[in-house]
Amino acid sequence: MQRATSKGILERLRDNGVVLGGEGYVFELERRGYIKAGPYVPEVVLDFPEAVKELHREYLRAGCEVMVALTYYAHREKLKDVGRENDLELMNRQAVRLANEVAREGDALVAGNICNTWAYDPQNVSESSKVVRGMYEEQLGWAVEEGIDFVIAETNDYLGEALIGLEVIKQLGLPAMVTLATVQPDKTRDGYDYVEACKILADHGADIVGLNCDRGPATMLPLIEKIRATVPGYVAAQPVPYKTHEGALTFESLQLENGARAFPLGLEPFLHNRFEMADFARRARALGINYIGICCGGSPHYVRAMAEALGRTPAASKYSPAMDLHPMLGAQVEEKDKVFLGDWKD
Ligand SMILES: [Zn+2]
Repeated sequence: MQRATSKGILERLRDNGVVLGGEGYVFELERRGYIKAGPYVPEVVLDFPEAVKELHREYLRAGCEVMVALTYYAHREKLKDVGRENDLELMNRQAVRLANEVAREGDALVAGNICNTWAYDPQNVSESSKVVRGMYEEQLGWAVEEGIDFVIAETNDYLGEALIGLEVIKQLGLPAMVTLATVQPDKTRDGYDYVEACKILADHGADIVGLNCDRGPATMLPLIEKIRATVPGYVAAQPVPYKTHEGALTFESLQLENGARAFPLGLEPFLHNRFEMADFARRARALGINYIGICCGGSPHYVRAMAEALGRTPAASKYSPAMDLHPMLGAQVEEKDKVFLGDWKD
């Protein structure tokens, strides 16, 4: 069931230049007290559906064009961990319904979502591929029945697993966005250079390829630039909003001052501010990236800043900063402070 009211993802990419996405639902709903850190299973979809709808709505108001159904980790393998495998179908269907309900409040697309399963085994490709394929087929079968416009297969650690997701999406006749996780310095867990892996995915029919999660803008941009130079089709970049750097390429490797691992619950000292994420959006567009978004750690204020940086005025811009009206700062803003006070637009 495709919705006729909205241009599809490929038409938007062709006609509008950049599509603005936005994710990080799992991290944000964990911060809000609705998802358990550790298993990170989206039980919230069934337990507090209004919380999921509210976050979708905040992203929509912030200018996000795609409501991504919260089926991340809502697959058989993960639901077993929390004893909810009997809720599998309901959780998946409900997640797509919630995304649809909010998408209709605006003019957003609905993306089905599949991800790394932790079931793929490069030592036993033929057997594990069957398991992975079965998981994707059941998840996306329900999603298609509930109504999606395209599918985002994301956080893929293995090219092999990503290709299975792509095949299932294409069998359903839907546009496919397939993005890789980048936990390792330069290769997927099954040994493909990230740039080469994106090229292979595009050659196999992925409509949009690229990267999501793990890296902040500073360490994702150089890599996505190489991918852009190699892949002729659409490219996506959805970094985490954390200050990764040469010495810590991913947010998993960031360390607190006492040497402790900051991931996943102590990452706040490394958060970028909204202006820096807006800057990322501008840089990504300048590089020719077509689908620009944000991953774990993302929240609506970043998306609004990114939307405005791309020249848009989403609903939430009604409440964008007007620092000249600030009782203390208004008259005294110095030129050097302006970038931090909302007067930073091009
Ligand atoms: Zn992420």
